[in-house]
Amino acid sequence: MSDWIREQLHPHYAQSLKIDELLYDSETDHQRLKVFQNGTFGRVLTLDDVVQTTEGDNFIYHEMLTHVPILAHGAAKRVLIIGGGDGGMAREALRHQSVEHVTMVEIDAGVVDFSKEYLPMLSDGAFDDPRLNLVINDGAAFMRETDQKFDVIIVDSTDPIGPGEVLFTDTFYGHAKRALNEGGILTTQNGVPFMQGDELTNTLRAFKALFADWGCYMATIPTYAGGPMAFGWGTDGAARSVTLEDLELRFAQANLTTDYYTPEVHKAAFALPAYVKRLLP
Ligand code: SAM
Repeated sequence: MSDWIREQLHPHYAQSLKIDELLYDSETDHQRLKVFQNGTFGRVLTLDDVVQTTEGDNFIYHEMLTHVPILAHGAAKRVLIIGGGDGGMAREALRHQSVEHVTMVEIDAGVVDFSKEYLPMLSDGAFDDPRLNLVINDGAAFMRETDQKFDVIIVDSTDPIGPGEVLFTDTFYGHAKRALNEGGILTTQNGVPFMQGDELTNTLRAFKALFADWGCYMATIPTYAGGPMAFGWGTDGAARSVTLEDLELRFAQANLTTDYYTPEVHKAAFALPAYVKRLLP
């Protein structure tokens, strides 16, 4: 299996992707990084042999973690991304001309450098946008220390193992809430509940204690195996109840071309299957 990557995230399940061409393989200060070409997904980025993002299906993940909170908010000017080293999240956030400033806090400069070189289609120029402030730091440390405020905070983290673990703690979520402007929204990647139900329950237990409106919404991303992925949602504002008509207006005004997001998908993404509802605290 030397020309396949084996991703083992769960004790009884693994998935493999064929490495048609290995483009990069190196140990950064924080994790092992590979970039390879795959016939189905195009270029694939893995950290410690766990798929982070692919050229082929990243649009679903990035569009849903940005456009849902930004359009639900309706007037977001300042966005914070924690993680997000490949630049895909910054790309989608900066597509909103109404967003004046994006801070992106990534722990691993290696991910940013290699993504720029080997996955330029992911950031699509975002790293050159003057509205982007790239900070190389631990997201938990930044959140603890910052006195800045944001309208939308997006946690684009790895799974809760290794450097990403701190981004799933109650302390981190508490600091994130403090960094939100009034009506601000926190969204998080919370894995695939069919496989990692505890991850969602733990995050939402913290959200329940922090936010008046807490929960999750979902989208299916082919490389994250096991069914739809859950995105955590926390706010003290009323953004979740935005009407379809208002979303359609905002979407039209933003003049976005999307491949997954539509206002209808936005509203429907909050409808949860019974097995996911049962995971809510
Ligand atoms: N979409 C992927 C997934 O669902 O598995 C994750 C995206 S990837 C861009 C996550 C990024 O989070 C990586 O670049 C990683 O270096 C970064 N990261 C992990 N722990 C971090 C931390 N404590 N602070 C900031 N960034 C972190």
